[in-house]
Amino acid sequence: MISAVKKKGIGLKTKLPSSPVTAGLWADFFQGSRLACARLITAVENRPELIPEIRHRLIPHLSGAVRVGITGPPGVGKSTVMAGLARRIIQDSHSLGIIAVDPSSPFTGGAFLGDRVRMQALDQDPRVFIRSMASREGHGGLSPAAPHAADILEAFGLDRILIETVGVGQVELDVLSCADLILLVLQPGTGDVIQSLKAGILEAADMILVNKADTAGTDSLLESLRFTFDISSRAAGTPPPPVLAASAIQDRGLDEVHRELEQRIRDILQTGRFHQKKRALLAKEITSSIREHLWDQFSALAKIREELPAVVERLARKRQSPYPYIRKVCSQVRIQYAKGRTGRGQSQ
Ligand code: GDP
Repeated sequence: MISAVKKKGIGLKTKLPSSPVTAGLWADFFQGSRLACARLITAVENRPELIPEIRHRLIPHLSGAVRVGITGPPGVGKSTVMAGLARRIIQDSHSLGIIAVDPSSPFTGGAFLGDRVRMQALDQDPRVFIRSMASREGHGGLSPAAPHAADILEAFGLDRILIETVGVGQVELDVLSCADLILLVLQPGTGDVIQSLKAGILEAADMILVNKADTAGTDSLLESLRFTFDISSRAAGTPPPPVLAASAIQDRGLDEVHRELEQRIRDILQTGRFHQKKRALLAKEITSSIREHLWDQFSALAKIREELPAVVERLARKRQSPYPYIRKVCSQVRIQYAKGRTGRGQSQ
C-alpha cells in the first residue's frame, strides 16, 4: 500500500498535459505581455493544482512589492478611495497592480457608470494592471487565489499592489493575511458599523479611513474610533493606528492618506517588519503544504476517507470519544510504515 501511495509522490507536480501554463506563456510573461499575465492569474484561479508549479517559477522573480489590503463593508467607497490612491501612487513613480475581490466593486462590475468610467481610465495606463477575481461558488465567498495573483503581479514587475476586499468574512481576513499593510475604510452614519465588522479586522488594520467625510456624522465616527483605538492600544501597549478622514468622491483628504500610507511602507521596510512577515508566510506555506501531503498519504494508508462518515456516525450516535479510534488508526499507520521501510531495506 505504501508503494501505491509513494507513486503519487510528494514532490512538486510535473506539468499536466492539459496545463495552460506552457513554456511559451512563461516566455511571454517575462517579456511583459499583459495577456500572459492575465492568463497566469486565470490559471491560479481555475487550476489550484498548478499553484505549486507556478509559485516555483515566480519566487526568484519576487522583487519585494508592497501589498496593501483595502477593506471595509460594501458601499463605503473602497473603490473610489482606491482609484484616488492609485492615481497618486503612479504619480509618485510607482507601478501598480490592483486586485479587486469585492463582488460589489466597480472593478468587478457591480458599479455605477461614473465609477466604472473612472476605473477604466486607470486601466488604460500602462503602469497599472487591474484584475478582478471571481467570487467563488456564487455565494460571495472570495477567491483564495488572490495572494497568488499578487505574486504574479509582483513578478510581472509591479511594485505596489492594492487588494480590495469586503471586510466581513473569514475568507477576506485570510486573503488579507498576505497584505503587508491594511487600510480599513468606513463611512459615517452607520452607527453599528464597528460592531458589524468581522472580529479581528479592527485589530489587523494599520490605518483607518473614514470616507464620505462630506456627509453628516463624520466627526462622531472619528471620535468613537479614536476612543476605541486609544483604549485597545493602551491595553496592548502599542501606538494606535492613524484614523484619517477623506471625501474620495471630491478627491479631498487623499493626499494625507497617500502620505501616511507611504510613511507606513517606509516604516515596515526600515524596521524589518516587511521581511519578517514574508518569512512567516513562507514558513506557513511550508508547514501547511507538508501537512496537506502527510494527510493525503496518511488518509490513503489508513483508508480514513472511506470509513470516516460511518465512524463519525457511530461515535456520535453512541456518544463515544473519538480518541480510541484516533490511537488505533495512528498505530496501524505506524506499523504499516515500519513494514514498508523494512521491506524496502530488504529489497535493496
Ligand atoms: P465600495 O463598495 O466600498 O467599493 O464603494 P464604492 O467606491 O463603489 O462607492 C459606493 C458609492 O459611494 C458610490 O456611489 C460612490 O460614488 C459613493 N462615494 C464614494 N466615495 C464617496 C464620498 O467620499 N462621498 C460621498 N458622498 N459618496 C461617495
